[in-house]
Order: sequence, then structure tokens, then C-alpha cells
Amino acid sequence: MQVIRTRRDIRNWRSEVSGWVGLVPTMGALHAGHMSLVDVAGQENDHICVSIFVNPRQFGSKSDFATYPRTTDEDLSMLQDAGVDAVFMPDAGEMYAGSARTSIHVADLTDRLEGASRPGHFDGVCLVVSKLFNLVQPDHAYFGWKDAQQVRVIQQMVDDLDMPVQIRPMPTVRDDDGLALSSRNCGLTISGRESARHIPAALELVEQAVRNGEFSVDLIRRRAIEHLSGAEDLEVDYVQIVDLESLQPLDRIDRPALVLIAAICDDIRLIDNLLVSSV
Ligand code: AMP
Repeated sequence: MQVIRTRRDIRNWRSEVSGWVGLVPTMGALHAGHMSLVDVAGQENDHICVSIFVNPRQFGSKSDFATYPRTTDEDLSMLQDAGVDAVFMPDAGEMYAGSARTSIHVADLTDRLEGASRPGHFDGVCLVVSKLFNLVQPDHAYFGWKDAQQVRVIQQMVDDLDMPVQIRPMPTVRDDDGLALSSRNCGLTISGRESARHIPAALELVEQAVRNGEFSVDLIRRRAIEHLSGAEDLEVDYVQIVDLESLQPLDRIDRPALVLIAAICDDIRLIDNLLVSSV
């Protein structure tokens, strides 16, 4: 496995390999969720490139960026064991080489949900992902549905800009207690973790309600919010039910919809979602 730190070297690596290349962009602190993307990338491509880059441009607060977990040695050993060919891990100075003045803004999809709570976040994501696409030139790029809005934004960017890459969204991997795996979970206290479990449980309630023929968004949202309010020290940011394509709020679940929850627990922002459909 090659560990590559510069843009020049990753371009060289790309020019030397033939066949399909799968890219898995990450911010490191890898867990089984990331590794599920790596596994599929390995099945579908001749070469796997994983990027590890904690992207300052997508963090609102400097302290969140500074305290984001970094576990490079463990990450590299997991990727080596998984048969990854190249790990691209530039530092911020290398990635942005001074100042990047270009921004990529996907309208509409980014002004709500995570975008409302984290202004500029998706512009930062789009900038770094498009740079990674240009450097690695992958045939396929793997993203988790765990960050559903991110998947929609990137799909839109790729379509709008005719980027020659196929986006492959992958299912959310969860812990035994239902909590979606996240690099940030390691910061949860024991009681915080108890509270955080209300998030997947609320999504399960929603799934059950829809399965039982309840399609009123108002009613379903209220039920989910009520369940979340039973968790100690869980500050709910939003519970939204939106159209899967446009991310616009729905009144009724009469088409494929995303149920999205964001909440803060132990100062950690947790997000999760569920895809539902009445059909
Ligand atoms: P991150 O390192 O948090 O930026 O995540 C890198 C990629 O892994 C993103 O496409 C995430 O959506 C995906 N990912 C993170 N957590 C999970 C999970 N629990 N299951 C599946 N994919 C995930």
C-alpha cells in the first residue's frame, strides 16, 4: 500500500495504474462504516484509493476542526489489511496550496438541514470532493447514506458539472444498539450514548408507523420528537421528512422520502436518517 502525501504523487500514481479505480473519501478515524465502503470499492474496481483529509473548509468552528479525532496509525493498518492500493493523505497546506479562491455552491439542496446549521459546510465539501475527483480521477466514488444530504449534494454537483465519475451511495452501518457508526461517537459519555440511542429508535418508530400505513408527516414528526424528548441531555436540532430528490419538506409521505434527524449530545453533533416510501 502506498501512502501518498502530495498532489503530484497522487497524479503520478493514477497515471501508472490501469483498470477501474474506486475512491473512498474520508476524514479518517476509520470505523466499520468506512470499511464497508472500502470493501465494496474493492469488489467493484481494480484499484482502491482512500483519502484521509480532515478538511478545514467544511468545519464551521476552529475548535471542532482541532478536536476532530485523528487515529492515523490505526487507520493505515486497517486500510493495509483491507487491501487498499493507495492512501492519499495530504495536509491542508498541500491540498489548498496557499489559498483556493474558487468555491462550488450547489444551490437549494445546501441551504437547509445540515446546511442551515453549518453555513458553508457543503461548499467546503464540494470543493474538496471535486479536487479529489480531479486528482484521483476515479471511475467510482463511494459515499455513505449516513450523510444523506451530502450524497444528494455530490450527486447534483457531478450531474451539473458533467464530472466523469459514478457516485455509489452505500447503506449506513450501525452498532449493535442501533447507533450509526461515526468517528465522533468515541467522544460520547456512557449516559450520552444512552441518549444518542434514542435517535435510531425514533427512526425505527417512524419506519413502523409508515409500515402501518401512517403517511402524515406532521403526526410522524411529532411522534419522533416526542420519543427524542425522552432522552436526557439530547438537544434536537431538527427532525425533517423531505423528498429524496429535492430535499424539500413533505406534508405526506407519498413518494420516496428521507427522515433526517440531527441532535447534539455531549457537545457532539449526531446525524442519522432513514429512507421511507409509501409505495
Ligand atoms: P467521514 O470520515 O465522516 O467524512 O466519512 C467518510 C465517508 O464514510 C462518508 O461518505 C460517510 O458518509 C461514510 N460513513 C460515515 N459513517 C458511516 C456509516 N456508519 N455507515 C456507512 N458509511 C459511513
